[in-house]
Order: sequence, then structure tokens, then C-alpha cells
Amino acid sequence: MTNAEPVFTWPNGERAAVSLSFDDARPSQIDNGLPIFERCGVRVTLYVSPSRVLDRLSDWQAAVAAGHEIGNHTVTHPCSGNFPWSRENALEDYTLTRMEQELLDANAFIRDVLGQLPTTFAYCCGQKYVGRGTELQSYVPLVARHFIVGRGFRDESVNDPGIVDLAQACGIESDGASFEDLRNWIESAKAAGGWVIFVAHDIGDEFARQAIRPHVLEAVCRYCADPSNALWIDTVAAVGAWIQRWQSRRIHMAQS
Ligand SMILES: [Zn+2]
Repeated sequence: MTNAEPVFTWPNGERAAVSLSFDDARPSQIDNGLPIFERCGVRVTLYVSPSRVLDRLSDWQAAVAAGHEIGNHTVTHPCSGNFPWSRENALEDYTLTRMEQELLDANAFIRDVLGQLPTTFAYCCGQKYVGRGTELQSYVPLVARHFIVGRGFRDESVNDPGIVDLAQACGIESDGASFEDLRNWIESAKAAGGWVIFVAHDIGDEFARQAIRPHVLEAVCRYCADPSNALWIDTVAAVGAWIQRWQSRRIHMAQS
């Protein structure tokens, strides 16, 4: 190859990007999370469930006003019927048409009620299919058509900006993690020049499961916001858009 590959860089000379994301519109994100984000000056991504937003509408509107991103997480949260609570709304019984309607309905709800049209999506339970067996279909292409980023869950790697398929960006579970666990992920992102997306649910010490401890969350926010650590902490939408611009410029250069 004679033309040099364009080199990917993060804005302002940062060495890696970090996004914090929280699923299901759990009330503890409002009660325990928003004050931490405000103290640390960080913006996060909230993948909301519409019914829970309606329970505390003015609080979720305040989260939008504070600059946080509201992402799409479907309306009815379909997952595998192997979860007893999803048996009547199982991905195994879904079609792509029905899934697309879920995505569009959730977008319309968020636009109408919170005034922000989502540009990113979080796969419910991290599952990316509808149907089963020989009839199974991936719904990643649907997500690619409607969003800049589709975020996974319980993935095992940092996102490499040159490689990542933004329609299925990796999400790292941060529920129950220690600060050291999460700092290790951040340092691997830094070593690779990559993007780590953390995923949590509740925020609090009182939850037995699916929760990040407030002191861990605050330590991560402070670490990422400390300029000496050379990290860009921002929403999934902001970081995803940065990578998307670079990936499309690279494709354009390869074609010209
Ligand atoms: Zn969820």
C-alpha cells in the first residue's frame, strides 16, 4: 500500500475514551447517580425503560437538562424466554418487524417525553437475535440502520476504534466491581488507545445484586476527569460519533 493509513486520534491528545452507561431507568440512578456525576463534572448515558421514566418524569427531565444522554433500550425489554420474567415477551418469539417497531416506539417516546431523539441503543440482556435455530436472525443490522452505536453487555474487550463495528460495541459490566477492577479496564483501554464502555444498573450500597457501589463510581468519575490521566470521559453518543466520523473518512479516503 502506498498511501499511509490515516491515524486515529482522540480529541485533545487524550489517550483513551471512557463512557459510563446505566440501564433500565432504575430510580437509584437519579437518587444516587446524578449528584455524583454533577460533583465530578461528567456526562453519562442512561438507557431508559419508558415505564420507569413516567414514574419520575421531572427527575428524568432534569437529567437531560444536566447534559446526560438518553439512549434507547426498547419499550418492553425483550430478552430470552429462559428468563422467567421474559417468557411472555421472549426474543425467541420475536420477528425483525416487531423488533423494529420496539426501537421506533422507544425513540418516539424519548423524543416526545424527554425531548431527545436517541442516537444510541443498548441491547437488552446483551442479546442480539430474534427467533431461534435455523430461523434465527441477528437484529444488529436493524440497530445499525437506526443508531450510531449499539452497546452490548458482559462483553470481554475494549473497543478498538479502527476495528469496532459500532452497531455492536462492547460493554463491560461494572455492577459489583471494585475501583481496581475498573481502573484495570481503563488502563487496558489506554494501552490500546481504545474505548471502554462500562455498564451498570442500580447505584447504591443497599442492593444485593446488579449495582455499582457509589464510592466506586465516584472514584472512577474522578479518575477519568483528572486531566493528568489523559482520558476522554463522555457519553456513548459523543464518543461513538467521533469514531464514526473517523471510520467514514477512512472509507472515503480508501475509495478516492
Ligand atoms: Zn436492561
